[in-house]
Amino acid sequence: MSQEDCIFCRIIAGDIPSKKVYEDDVCMAFHDVSPQAPVHILVVPREHFASLDTAAKQHRETLGHLLLTCGEIAREQNLAGEGYRVVINTGEHGGQTVFHLHVHLLGGRQFVFPPG
Ligand code: 5GP
Ligand code: ZN
Repeated sequence: MSQEDCIFCRIIAGDIPSKKVYEDDVCMAFHDVSPQAPVHILVVPREHFASLDTAAKQHRETLGHLLLTCGEIAREQNLAGEGYRVVINTGEHGGQTVFHLHVHLLGGRQFVFPPG
């Protein structure tokens, strides 16, 4: 169910504009408003669930779909050759700020590990 007070539900509904790069029946991908790399795209399921912590078996296909979609977008954005990073921030220590699960696809520069 879409949540009225959720910014990503509102973007998916078209109530808040975004720079869309991809969409299908399961997810939508758009550029992050505050990019942390030359390419910074958010891949967001249409279904609202808060985080990996609240994900359940019913989300198995959706979660797999999100990762495969990251791979496809990375190839389209010409990131696959040099590589890229995929991140799911979860909860307070994970640095999550929007509580509608989403996958960050970051590329176009070198990343270090572990991240800060
Ligand atoms: P989190 O910190 O929850 O892992 O990631 C949330 C991300 O959403 C942040 O990188 C933030 O810049 C991005 N973000 C927050 N509000 C908006 C918005 O209104 N539009 C877009 N495109 N990105 C947003
Ligand atoms: Zn939502």
